[in-house]
Amino acid sequence: MNKLIIHQFECLSDNYGVLIHDPETNQTASIDAPDAMAIKKELENKKWKLTHILVTHKHLDHIGGLDDLKKDYNPFIIGPKYEEESIELLDKTVLDQEFFDFANRPVKVIHTPGHTLGHIVYWIENDNLLFAGDTIFAMGCGRVFEGSHDQMLASLNKIKNLPENTIVYCGHEYTIANANFALSIEPNNKNLCSRIEQVKELRSENKPTLPTTIRIELDTNPFLRTDSPEIQRSLNLLNSDSKNIFSKLRTKKDSF
Ligand code: ZN
Ligand code: FE
Repeated sequence: MNKLIIHQFECLSDNYGVLIHDPETNQTASIDAPDAMAIKKELENKKWKLTHILVTHKHLDHIGGLDDLKKDYNPFIIGPKYEEESIELLDKTVLDQEFFDFANRPVKVIHTPGHTLGHIVYWIENDNLLFAGDTIFAMGCGRVFEGSHDQMLASLNKIKNLPENTIVYCGHEYTIANANFALSIEPNNKNLCSRIEQVKELRSENKPTLPTTIRIELDTNPFLRTDSPEIQRSLNLLNSDSKNIFSKLRTKKDSF
């Protein structure tokens, strides 16, 4: 099977736009619709026609461009059943563990409540790709706006269990802020220290620090590392339950 072409670009203040193009079927999907103007510009540059939009969740910085893109390209818009009341223009709603086809390969929907209750991520196993929206970020995770901390931890555990070489695209460039927090909690993590050097260099050149991989996040993302003794000690929760550790981490990060 031919490879999908992925094009990632920054838009709005710190969102990422992602276009997925399949040269064989000529299908092109946008992950979310943060900014219609920016997405249109990228489509025109690439000479791609938008055929699909895969929506992760209902926040405006992920659906604000749906209207305009629908008018211009009439794409098939897929999004979470759990948020259909908040997202207009959905052509198809999907549930946890459901599959649909894009570019002749199956896309699996994984429900990851926490940031919002209906949040979903899209996994294309064939191509080792995960489009994670605002569930996981480089060295961080989404703010828990609607769900509970336990729900968010369970959602991150679903992501954690995907193959380690999965390439992860995220909704935002929050990497430097996340890195500073991670370092404050786990300063002796060698992988973390060397990653921070890399991402600082990338950002100083205005380059993206994403995508990431599951392996890289397992090594450096504190929210996936509740079993790290150093993290547990930093939180005064040595040998505590992962739910307590996650919850304290998330609370600390909220006011970091
Ligand atoms: Zn969001
Ligand atoms: Fe967002």
